[in-house]
Amino acid sequence: MTEYRRLRVALLGAGAVGSQVAGLLLRHGDELADRAGAELELAGIAVRNLDAPRDVALPRELFTTDAEALITGADIVVELMGGIEPARAHTLLALGSGADVVTANKALLATHGPEVFEAADRVGASVYYEAAAAGAIPIIRPLRDSLAGDRVVRIMGIVNGTTNYILDRMDSEGADFADVLADAQRLGYAEADPTADVEGYDAAQKAAILASLAFHTAVPLETVHREGITAITADMIEEARDAGFVIKLLAVCERLVDEGAESISVRVYPALVPRSHPLASVHGANNAVFVEAEAAGPLMFYGAGAGGVQTASAVLGDVVSAARRHIAGGTGVGESTRANLPIVPIGHVTTRYQITLEVSDAPGVLATVAGLLSEGGVSVATVLQTVAEPNGEEGGTARLIIGTHRAAEQALSATVDSLAASDVVERVVSVLRVEGE
Ligand code: NAP
Repeated sequence: MTEYRRLRVALLGAGAVGSQVAGLLLRHGDELADRAGAELELAGIAVRNLDAPRDVALPRELFTTDAEALITGADIVVELMGGIEPARAHTLLALGSGADVVTANKALLATHGPEVFEAADRVGASVYYEAAAAGAIPIIRPLRDSLAGDRVVRIMGIVNGTTNYILDRMDSEGADFADVLADAQRLGYAEADPTADVEGYDAAQKAAILASLAFHTAVPLETVHREGITAITADMIEEARDAGFVIKLLAVCERLVDEGAESISVRVYPALVPRSHPLASVHGANNAVFVEAEAAGPLMFYGAGAGGVQTASAVLGDVVSAARRHIAGGTGVGESTRANLPIVPIGHVTTRYQITLEVSDAPGVLATVAGLLSEGGVSVATVLQTVAEPNGEEGGTARLIIGTHRAAEQALSATVDSLAASDVVERVVSVLRVEGE
């Protein structure tokens, strides 16, 4: 048997992901040693409650509540506690003492990424975070390494499993948001407090991480435009289907070029995706990230975006990378923010829209609506009218489904305001962006 140098791995957290990481590390130790070129000794596991039940049977003597003592003397610290504090302090302590850090903590990286990466740079250590965006799906390493020689143009990601599960069931069953959410909570797909998922906060954190990597630019979380899915109704889903679309919560990270000047846009919102697009066939709680690069063209990364053992796979891949770096020596590869592109606010972004209006079914209504759109600088591509009165009598209401050409968000929202204020429009039913055409 090959004799390897021994590296001490400190695990912080033994919850859904941490317990699986510990289990796999102990079970596949010999194999991992061959791959890493180092023996990976699980030095200990820091938790809050020593008596809490664990998903995997683990030796009791490994557990401690003294995270600081465990970190000191570790070669690799695996942070799987989640949240900001004490995860941030422990991560900085680990880096300060020369350890490499592996983390799945999107909240920490999206809010304190620059501080963490600077601390790593100061000592030449590395931070690995493959599991922080889209769980088991390899997307960080492809963006950081495989596409390092290319220029990413756009990323469109389904990066939140809970919302994809909800929208997918609404689409396949015609069910209402509240009913599917309640069911998702019962089945464990959604948290008791679903805010982080359904309001798009979780997806926004992942969007910030992906955009930073793809565009070599620090992307503060506050610059990510965010909308959730709570306003999506069964009606909107049905209308989308009739028009050949499916509604998905997308994280869109885009490189924009205006008269030779580059900028980026990072945004999260529910959007209409053509049924023929690869992202339209991402069902259930799965995630997918669709990357368009100048030379490589379109690339699709698909799989489990969460789950304890699935996420543990990505974490252990990072542990092996960290071990290889330790053995090879030299300084870690820092985060690149050299491009430092300006981040444009949502008002300046252009997309196609589908606007659904309830209007009075009277002569001249279409002309009034068309006039307001044209005054607002929004050019119409398609109009579909459905009349609510089946006998064809006037005086009832009709639905207008208007597809626009690309329009700037600012112009569009001002136009929607004037449509809403118009006498002929009874209700603005929905305004959705179209992505992926
Ligand atoms: P979890 O089930 O809530 O487990 C958290 C663990 O951290 C628990 O073992 C807890 O100890 C420990 N912990 C929390 N605060 C602590 C403190 N102050 N001191 C010591 N230990 C502490 O979390 P998880 O689902 O495994 O997620 C871990 C990380 O992975 C998070 O950053 C999450 O965003 C990320 N992630 C999770 C998934 C997923 O599918 N779950 C997917 C991708 C990324 P006790 O057990 O004693 O309470």
